[in-house]
Amino acid sequence: MSEVRNIFILCEEGLEALAPHIKDALEEVMSYFPEHKDDYPIKILGNWKNKGYKRINEEGHEVLVPYESMDWYIARAKRCSKNEGRFQKTGQISINQLCSDLISDPYTKTIPQWSVFVTKHDLYATGMNYCLGFSQENKFAIVSTARFVDENNKLDLENFKTVLMHEFGHLIGLTNKKRVHTQELLGTHCTNEGCIMQQRMNGDFTDLTRARLKRKHSEAPPICDDCIREGRKFFVRQKLAYNLIHEGELSR
Ligand SMILES: [Zn+2]
Ligand SMILES: [Zn+2]
Repeated sequence: MSEVRNIFILCEEGLEALAPHIKDALEEVMSYFPEHKDDYPIKILGNWKNKGYKRINEEGHEVLVPYESMDWYIARAKRCSKNEGRFQKTGQISINQLCSDLISDPYTKTIPQWSVFVTKHDLYATGMNYCLGFSQENKFAIVSTARFVDENNKLDLENFKTVLMHEFGHLIGLTNKKRVHTQELLGTHCTNEGCIMQQRMNGDFTDLTRARLKRKHSEAPPICDDCIREGRKFFVRQKLAYNLIHEGELSR
């Protein structure tokens, strides 16, 4: 059996202990696609740093090499926020910058992958006060823990997991525009009661977490039948694309 893609979990420094919980949450979603899950091994890269992720520049300063560490992505998003006069006031970093850097990551061309990128920094998008996360279908998911941490630095793990699974759900195409029972609300979202792929405009996913845990208790999936059906179609399309590429390689 060949792997179609790796799912890489990246965690900013200080969040390493969260990685196994992230893995559990992703495995839980993938378990509803039993015929596909083995094609997508989930690997914890943690606070990823490649060899040679730092170098000395001409002025003798140590600099981060582009795309070679999680630190580089964070530093870029921070700098963007500083340039926009935001970091100084809010400590937030730019999700727009993170997205464009993840999209242009040259490694995605050589190592088929989906990245699940978890930061402790609060995120903002252009024109928005904050955002919990963002996903690009078939590419990556970004989630911040910042809004789930209380004043004692304690993480509300279950609420965080709901948002993480929700963003991962977008990554695997669960809320396709052409699907039934969806609405456009900051992206396409499911409208089915109790499904974690619904949107919450106030950023409060507590009711969806409650519903998710209740469903889990009775061994029901966190996502609805429409989402599961759409996910299956997504995985079939992935497999077809994969087979096409590899048949092409064989006949060359
Ligand atoms: Zn969403
Ligand atoms: Zn749904």
